[in-house]
Amino acid sequence: MNHYNLPEVRGRYRYNTNLGKMCWFGVGGNADVLFIPADAEDLQDFLLKMDNSIPITVIGVGSNLLIRDSGVRGVVIRLGAGFNYINHNGYHIIAGAAVLDLNVVQYCLEYGISGLEFLAGIPGTIGGAIYMNSGAYNAEISNILLETKAISLKGELKVLKKDDLGYKYRNNSLDEEWIFIEGSFQGQFGDYDVIANNIKDIQNSRLVTQPIKSKTGGSTFKNPTGLSAWRLIDEAKCRGLRIGGAEVSTQHCNFFINSGATTANDLENLIKVVRNRVLEKTGVLLEPEIKIIGEGIDA
Ligand SMILES: Cc1cc2nc3c(=O)[nH]c(=O)nc-3n(C[C@H](O)[C@H](O)[C@H](O)COP(=O)(O)OP(=O)(O)OC[C@H]3O[C@@H](n4cnc5c(N)ncnc54)[C@H](O)[C@@H]3O)c2cc1C
Repeated sequence: MNHYNLPEVRGRYRYNTNLGKMCWFGVGGNADVLFIPADAEDLQDFLLKMDNSIPITVIGVGSNLLIRDSGVRGVVIRLGAGFNYINHNGYHIIAGAAVLDLNVVQYCLEYGISGLEFLAGIPGTIGGAIYMNSGAYNAEISNILLETKAISLKGELKVLKKDDLGYKYRNNSLDEEWIFIEGSFQGQFGDYDVIANNIKDIQNSRLVTQPIKSKTGGSTFKNPTGLSAWRLIDEAKCRGLRIGGAEVSTQHCNFFINSGATTANDLENLIKVVRNRVLEKTGVLLEPEIKIIGEGIDA
């Protein structure tokens, strides 16, 4: 089925493919087309030839995504093996966008490079981290990113410097959509044991404080300036609140969980209910950190 008249590529197209299974929440509908480009050249070629009336969405490993049950129209791009590489020159690390954050951390440990340990508990890809300005433990991507190679939806390949991204808390300010294909990061000299201990501490603290073994999308809402989203949710008495199989984690109430047979719709409704309750109780309007994609109406 190629009802979009897609260009020939060296990578792979998969039609009417379920995306829910590729995301941490484990729910959500199908992509009309999933495109896994062979490499950067294949991706650029595809974008140059692609009819620009067809919507394009890029995903990483879906650790910050809620895919609506009705699925995603157009072409969803997921970077695969051709974007899964790491190398370094001194303390300067270069990683393809499909590399998992944890793999970069392990690579740095092996070569005695410190400064990237904060990524140890973030389960996404380098591409997702660059887009989201991911961070934890008082560090974020904007502290270490030097530049990123990116391709626009029109097929223009460009090197964007960190300052071009206009980073904000868990966001960037680019006014055009870019697909990040590679990131260069600044690390520094580190002692193997110190780095290994930092990683262990981060991973242990996650185990205790977050439901990381559950089907979740991480922090549902951004922390408003000077406040904690989880405290506001707790104050609004939403800890443990459920809609269908969608549940506000009792362990960390800014994490929402698919605790059984749930739908993306249940999860989205839970997000809306919690946001309204927090607003009523505290006067603070929470902004979602989770990205909700697919056919539907935004609240
Ligand atoms: C248990 C758990 C703990 C988490 N802890 C943290 C944390 O401590 N700190 C934190 O910041 N986040 C955290 N997250 C959220 C998530 O892991 C990060 O936001 C991560 O960077 C998302 O990467 P991803 O590959 O999963 O992207 P996805 O979730 O697939 O996508 C997220 C967004 O990034 C965009 N995107 C993905 N790849 C690219 C690309 N190559 N080019 C352009 N855009 C792209 C997508 O379009 C989407 O808008 C957590 C999530 C979970 C499940």
